Amino acid sequence: KLPTNVSKLVDEAKNLYKSKLAYLAETHKPPAFIVCAPGRVNLIGEHTDYNDGYCLPMAIDYQVVAYGTGFVHTGKGSGPTTIRLRMISSQKNDGDDLVEERKLAVNALTPPDETTPKSWTNYVVGTIVQYVPDLPHEGCTLDLAISFASDVPIGAGLSSSAALETATATLLECFMHDMAFSATSSGDIKRERAIRCQKAENEWALSPCGIMDQYVSSAAEKNNCMLLDCQSLEITQIPFKQAEDTPAIVVANSNVAHEIADGEYGKRRRECADAVSTMQNIPLYHVLSLRDANLQDCEDAREKMGDIIYRRAKHVVTENKRVLECKTALKMGLWDRVGALMNDSHASLKDDFDVSCEEVDLLVETAQKVEGVYGSRITGGGFGGCTITLVKKDKVEELTEALKGAYKAKYDKECDVFVTTASAGARVLAVDVDCKPH
Ligand code: ADP
Ligand code: MG
Repeated sequence: KLPTNVSKLVDEAKNLYKSKLAYLAETHKPPAFIVCAPGRVNLIGEHTDYNDGYCLPMAIDYQVVAYGTGFVHTGKGSGPTTIRLRMISSQKNDGDDLVEERKLAVNALTPPDETTPKSWTNYVVGTIVQYVPDLPHEGCTLDLAISFASDVPIGAGLSSSAALETATATLLECFMHDMAFSATSSGDIKRERAIRCQKAENEWALSPCGIMDQYVSSAAEKNNCMLLDCQSLEITQIPFKQAEDTPAIVVANSNVAHEIADGEYGKRRRECADAVSTMQNIPLYHVLSLRDANLQDCEDAREKMGDIIYRRAKHVVTENKRVLECKTALKMGLWDRVGALMNDSHASLKDDFDVSCEEVDLLVETAQKVEGVYGSRITGGGFGGCTITLVKKDKVEELTEALKGAYKAKYDKECDVFVTTASAGARVLAVDVDCKPH
């Protein structure tokens, strides 16, 4: 039996499919598959993924549900393969009949560029494109009809985009499996899915993100944080122990859109690359990425790097250490230590990496002063978005009130506060043979 919030999304996606997509006979052929993929919150390890480092995210209890059908018209065995895609999302449904349709000739797939208007469909198309090499026949047509329903807040730093990609990918894997062509796989489907989804976001949504969001949406496990080594792409599930004294995980959304700072993210990536190349000129030959550097390396290169690049490197180097220490503290249930590392992470992101903002700082500082709070920090790429706080279970209400009150008093705006648990990654929910139009 599905949790209520998921089953509501399933109904929403199903109704959307039945009312808007199922009557299109060419693309409608049962069975429909129903999958979901979650958003995420990162406990610690920010801006480390694209530096080959470590992070410790978990999936949250909010997801994108995808409901869809897919089948192949076998072609004559020549000519380009075509994908015919119809998609609709409850989230992007301003007008009533907003069904987006795309025809993709796979021999002429070009990602959008900076001049193309942004569209949510690019996340979906970009993901599907990653599966094109797995299509069987030349000259065939792949018909897809997909509806999406989601309760992941959009643009809040909880990775609604990765959830959308991962749901799309998981659905495609169902189609591939059902039609009995196996996706080219080395055996680690979740890892490969994450790589494909990251590529979709990099190339089709033009966002230079690392792999953390897609990987955790794909491979998270319930009641675990996922330690991700972004160099080897190995993951280790670290139990978020469920005991009497286990803290609650509280997420506060500043409702400051991080999108405005799109360019800043790329800039941080370049600054980190700068740090590495400076170190290599010192020469610190062992530093191939900031993951390989230690604080002494940063000091040695400090003069050459200049203050800004030095601080960027210092954040990444110290953050990697914090993640590994946090992993151990988490395993041992040392919540005070976990909290202190989160606080240090926030200070480092604010002062050295310069990715916080006034509103988020207020939420973090307010939380840190509440009795029973272990630690609090900004989570996600930054420049707005959410904070994550660990707090004693019986102090959740006080924390919530403190956050809402302080935010309202200073900005006359609401912040959304919710409690989450470490949740499961993408999964197939059901197969629906009864997906006839209403
Ligand atoms: P975040 O991933 O932090 O929520 P992004 O800016 O990376 O923020 O991604 C948000 C974008 O992802 C939206 O503008 C939209 O294009 C797309 N998106 C996410 N979820 C959905 C959804 N359920 N339906 C349609 N588009 C979505
Ligand atoms: Mg995103």
